[in-house]
Amino acid sequence: MLQDNFGRKFYYLRLSITDVCNFRCNYCLPDGYECDHDRDFLKVNEIKRIANAFAQMGTEKIRITGGEPSLRKDLPEIIRTVKQTAGIKTVAMTSNGFKLTEHIDDWIDAGLDSLNLSIDSLDPRQFQAITGKDKLQTILDGIEKAQKRGFNNIKVNTVLMREYNHHEMKQFLDWVKHTPISLRFIELMQTGDNQEFFEKQHVSGANIKAMLLESGWMPVIRKKDAGPAEVFSHPDYQGTIGLIMPYSKDFCATCNRLRVSSLGKLHLCLFTENGLSLREHLQTDDSQGLKDCISHMMTDKKLSHYLQEGITGGTKHLAMLGG
Ligand code: SAM
Ligand code: SF4
Repeated sequence: MLQDNFGRKFYYLRLSITDVCNFRCNYCLPDGYECDHDRDFLKVNEIKRIANAFAQMGTEKIRITGGEPSLRKDLPEIIRTVKQTAGIKTVAMTSNGFKLTEHIDDWIDAGLDSLNLSIDSLDPRQFQAITGKDKLQTILDGIEKAQKRGFNNIKVNTVLMREYNHHEMKQFLDWVKHTPISLRFIELMQTGDNQEFFEKQHVSGANIKAMLLESGWMPVIRKKDAGPAEVFSHPDYQGTIGLIMPYSKDFCATCNRLRVSSLGKLHLCLFTENGLSLREHLQTDDSQGLKDCISHMMTDKKLSHYLQEGITGGTKHLAMLGG
């Protein structure tokens, strides 16, 4: 089992398959995608070797992410490859939902188990102001299409921003009341590129947690391969609310996840200075060599990110790695 020096076990891998994105989220890529490297993204056979090696070391869940993963034409093949890996119980994906309606059937048929979609506003104009795309209705239609097919494992990620969506709390809660969806508010994180934006827009999740507890929401118990959210349920609501609070005191204590970038670098934390390249070990079927390399790298994992001190490592924006 993959473990670090602090006894944390890693059941969960976030695998980025591209850093390209077609959205311009104001907190992530406000000027759109700019490429500063060869677009030599992991190929399907390399993804297969990564999935196998991690699964043999105890990983049970792989989340495919980006950039925008649905921009890769071979996405169904990637989902299928990860799904067929012995030991992987859950294949998840995070997407902006741009291609959801068009491709959800292919993704489900390929074996996708769960899907996280980013919806930062339920007001179409505000959604466009945040993402640069007038696509809210398309994404909501895609959710309905997936749910009609019986695919109910959908979570929605909303990055909290003081001036852009904090005032929409009531609309979000009303939506969850009548929709069986898991909505998660993510505290805006500072990255190398968004410092000024972060200072203006960051809202703490702690006040929302207090408001939920006061209104009868109850904490839900966390599973071992669960993501970082604290989840709450309420008897009068069909959906649940999650809070992802990276600035809270014990956030890193329950860290159970590692990341591999679309260029094949292992990132021990979202905010490390550098990724550690696995690429040379992905060119042959020497799975023991790959596993030894990963285990060796694990000894460098630090106890915490140092975001509270404003240290964002080499992470310019989260499209680089997938959040
Ligand atoms: N493009 C896909 C999407 O937006 O869902 C996947 C990649 S995106 C980097 C993954 C998640 O990170 C999204 O939910 C996004 O809202 C979130 N994210 C991006 N930048 C962030 C930031 N600075 N702070 C908090 N969350 C962020
Ligand atoms: Fe693209 Fe996702 Fe970043 Fe938005 S958050 S710009 S959709 S990578």
